[in-house]
Amino acid sequence: MNGKRIRREKLTIRRMIALYQQRCPQALADREHYQALNDYADKRLDKCVFGEEKPACKQCPVHCYQPAKREEMKQIMRWAGPRMLWRHPILTVRHLIDDRRPVPELPEKYRK
Ligand code: SF4
Repeated sequence: MNGKRIRREKLTIRRMIALYQQRCPQALADREHYQALNDYADKRLDKCVFGEEKPACKQCPVHCYQPAKREEMKQIMRWAGPRMLWRHPILTVRHLIDDRRPVPELPEKYRK
């Protein structure tokens, strides 16, 4: 999946992880782990059932992340989120707008 919205979300996540790594020496030392986490997030986005209409992951009724990875991403976002505005203002504003999107109905093939 390679639409604008998904590409933007991938970029936001990449920037947030990079920011988190810069400020946290332990995270900086563990590059492989964070690269793997970033790759995992990209794959989730590639397979997102909502595609370009996706809601914010934190509001998603599906939540496709493994629980441990979800927790880790939450921790990164909690730390990096407020700092993103100064480093990447345009991306942050777009992300905040995306966050306010309503949660769409699940595509029919995923409904029970
Ligand atoms: S958590 Fe929901 S919105 Fe986020 S990638 Fe997974 S299915 Fe898509």
